Amino acid sequence: MATELTDTPTDASWRSGSALAPRPFPAAHTGTCSACGDDFDPGDLISRADTGWKHDTCPDDRPLGQVCTDCFMEKAESGACGC
Ligand SMILES: [Zn+2]
Ligand SMILES: [Zn+2]
Repeated sequence: MATELTDTPTDASWRSGSALAPRPFPAAHTGTCSACGDDFDPGDLISRADTGWKHDTCPDDRPLGQVCTDCFMEKAESGACGC
């Protein structure tokens, strides 16, 4: 009797490139990151954001954003604070 091989099933749901995971791509033009507010240059990797575009990976050395004078937390992009 031949030994049965238990091949790993090739389930289509495991395929990469799902539409649920947008992939970053190089920017074609300069723009402003909606996440950190810094500019990005053509060729920088960006990805889609809720409103506009953002760095795929925002630089860490970004200047501090607007800070609420009451709770000293960084405000949201809109400038509003939840405190
Ligand atoms: Zn950014
Ligand atoms: Zn606050």
